[in-house]
Amino acid sequence: MARRAVDVPALVESARAGSPRAVARLISLVEDAHPALREVMAALAQHTGRARVVGLTGSPGVGKSTTTTALVSAFRARGARVGVLAVDPSSPFSGGALLGDRVRMQDHALDPEVYIRSMASRGHLGGLSWSTPQAIRVLDAAGCDVVLVETVGVGQSEVEVAGLADTSVVLLAPGMGDGIQAAKAGILEIGDVFVVNKADREGADATVRDLRHMISLGDRTEPGLWRPPVVKTVASTRTGTDEVMAALDKHHAHLEASGDLRRRRERRAADEVESIALASLRSRFGDVAGDVRLGALAARVVDGELDPYAAADALVDELTA
Ligand code: GDP
Repeated sequence: MARRAVDVPALVESARAGSPRAVARLISLVEDAHPALREVMAALAQHTGRARVVGLTGSPGVGKSTTTTALVSAFRARGARVGVLAVDPSSPFSGGALLGDRVRMQDHALDPEVYIRSMASRGHLGGLSWSTPQAIRVLDAAGCDVVLVETVGVGQSEVEVAGLADTSVVLLAPGMGDGIQAAKAGILEIGDVFVVNKADREGADATVRDLRHMISLGDRTEPGLWRPPVVKTVASTRTGTDEVMAALDKHHAHLEASGDLRRRRERRAADEVESIALASLRSRFGDVAGDVRLGALAARVVDGELDPYAAADALVDELTA
């Protein structure tokens, strides 16, 4: 596919001025791992670091989209500019259209202070764990006070994406054996706030109890450590949304007071830098010269002349020389 030339300074200026089209175009550049991205990120860097990033995870059907919509309204009521990213880490090669349908969010479609975007990583290195932070950065620089990142599916990749947020909200619903599923997927460890949605259904109180019990078994009882609250909601009627907002605010205040906000963001940046560096190194393996070097080193490993560690060192030395 031919790539259109990109006027990065103009695009960044429009995005900063609040143009939804410019924001959408910048996020498309991220999705495509476009060569102009380097220039985009350089231009955005000084305008980032303001947005609160809230992740929402949970099994399909649990009520993430409905909850996200309710939270968007609640943040809008405070006058905040809101970005929403819906990402599907489990199927990096599809997603687009499906997610587009999921995130229609008609309530907010016409609000110029709300940016809604679904994202799929089109198969480039590092996938969504690489592209999501950059998309967050675009929304942050475009003046979003809050970025809600909604992930689809349950699994390790979802846990990774949850690591990109300042505050991770884990949603469950009564029945569904969600509690056990959550424990299995390692989701208990990542949740800063737990929401038991569909509280209009039977079994909600039991799910809340189970969850509180499981949380109490974790080693989060030392003084000063955050104890994740469990909030009951009926997202479809917006019952409990205020309590979720209060829990988000409380957690944010805790992050700021404890220094964890800074630590989490530094860890997030470290992961991002590392994945860009690794992708950059690996892309050089594909160069003709790199390939020859790698091939030659592999032959020497097979011949027993070199051990694989020494060969890897030699490769890294050559690639970074
Ligand atoms: P997602 O797949 O996790 O994003 O879930 P959705 O937000 O799309 O919700 C799945 C379905 O559950 C939709 O039909 C919602 O209208 C419905 N739903 C969401 N929240 C509630 C709730 O609190 N109670 C009930 N009964 N239904 C809900």
